[in-house]
Amino acid sequence: MTHPIHIIGGGLAGSEAAWQAANAGVPVILHEMRPIRQTDAHVTDRLGELVCSNSLRSDDATGNAVGLLHAEMRLAGSVVMAAADASRIPAGSALAVDREGFCENITARLQAHPKITIAREEITTTPAAWDNVIIATGPLTSPALSAALLELTGEDGLSFFDAIAPIVYFDSVNMDICWRQSRYDKGTADYINCPLDKAQYEAFVAALLAGKKTVFRDWEKTTPYFDGCLPIEVMAERGIETLRHGPMKPRGLTNAHKPDEKPHAVVQLRQDNALGTLYNMVGFQTKLTHAEQKRIFRMIPGLEQARFARLGGLHRNTFLNSPRLLDDQLRLKSAPRLRFAGQMTGVEGYVESAASGLVAGRAAAARALGLPFAPPPVTTAHGALIHHVTGGHIARGGAKSFQPMNINFGLFPPLEAPATGEDGKRLKGRQKTIARRRAICERALADFRRWLMN
Ligand SMILES: Cc1cc2nc3c(=O)[nH]c(=O)nc-3n(C[C@H](O)[C@H](O)[C@H](O)COP(=O)(O)OP(=O)(O)OC[C@H]3O[C@@H](n4cnc5c(N)ncnc54)[C@H](O)[C@@H]3O)c2cc1C
Repeated sequence: MTHPIHIIGGGLAGSEAAWQAANAGVPVILHEMRPIRQTDAHVTDRLGELVCSNSLRSDDATGNAVGLLHAEMRLAGSVVMAAADASRIPAGSALAVDREGFCENITARLQAHPKITIAREEITTTPAAWDNVIIATGPLTSPALSAALLELTGEDGLSFFDAIAPIVYFDSVNMDICWRQSRYDKGTADYINCPLDKAQYEAFVAALLAGKKTVFRDWEKTTPYFDGCLPIEVMAERGIETLRHGPMKPRGLTNAHKPDEKPHAVVQLRQDNALGTLYNMVGFQTKLTHAEQKRIFRMIPGLEQARFARLGGLHRNTFLNSPRLLDDQLRLKSAPRLRFAGQMTGVEGYVESAASGLVAGRAAAARALGLPFAPPPVTTAHGALIHHVTGGHIARGGAKSFQPMNINFGLFPPLEAPATGEDGKRLKGRQKTIARRRAICERALADFRRWLMN
């Protein structure tokens, strides 16, 4: 008899994992603590509840990375996508859903599945007798289970809030203004530096102070700021010079384009993935709204045309230092019977969480059936995302440098766009970006189909 898979948490990731594993013929016990115990954000007892926005973002599978993830999930028979399609409401090219219909639909499908048993209980440990477990308890994992996981992973293995700095695409940084150098030329020239003169710096600080911020929810107000991880606008409030002595310190850096001109302040960008396509803005965690981040950060010389793969934020969250702790099948290296899925793995967002659940569910089913399992290739959206959180991210700046990531084109192995368009004319600028993205999407869908057949 096949042993059941125990899935802890019936959110986006756990529901999708349960569906995928059960459809592979493996019995699943899905443990969900609501309504016995609620989180600070959930308000129903439904599975797959959306805790905030009712949008699953872009549904464009030819030019948007999250739309591509949707398309791959539909190919894999995703329950989250089936529920989204069934409860879709008009929202242009975005996939917005009727939130109640959406989680009702997921709940009904899982309840009706003959291989799925739903147990309404809080899990506080992972009993040794459970030999195939998926932990998908999300950003608001209950304190008792968090404590057990902390014991398992160690102090620097689990974080309780994220402090996200924006990430820019390397090919949108103006290297005629910026230059590569590490402070005091220590080690290799891994940083990209953006110089500001006095007037630019003062205008930038004024914009930070005036910029619109998002507010903490009541239950988030106890969120302690990390030492040395203050939001940039909070640092700016402490005085005009504070940032120049913090993340915008110009010392030890010489502008390669103007060696005789000392920059008044410098913004540093640090490589974020092994591919070298993404750079994060060092020390720029922020509560500015997304629109304000784009406007204000484009005031930085060299970033005028910056495209952002991820914008900054500061939230309560629970996530593992996955690049160090998890293998490419989302298993805890030190205890491979335990697999993780969803926001806990360091993926960010509803769709990304469900997608990681999809892979975890299939991997756990393969283990239960004694079959080999290969993760989806990195050329697919699923593969690119999971590869990033389990290895593609470069851990620089200490073990805690890993921060949650959403799907974006910077995670995919680069692919050259065709040189010319259908009309035979040479592609340039935005047209070239559109053509490159289309090519990445086509490659991804072809490779994902092949992966599904294996
Ligand atoms: C306040 C808030 C707002 C957000 N807004 C958005 C947004 O607008 N758009 C977006 O894309 N993402 C948003 N996110 C991120 C969002 O949480 C994730 O994208 C997604 O819900 C994570 O999916 P998950 O399955 O990992 O966790 P969840 O969907 O949170 O599911 C985890 C489940 O585990 C259960 N659980 C927890 N502990 C236990 C336990 N010990 N035993 C049993 N069950 C347990 C919980 O009750 C919950 O049902 C938001 C997050 C928060 C906290």
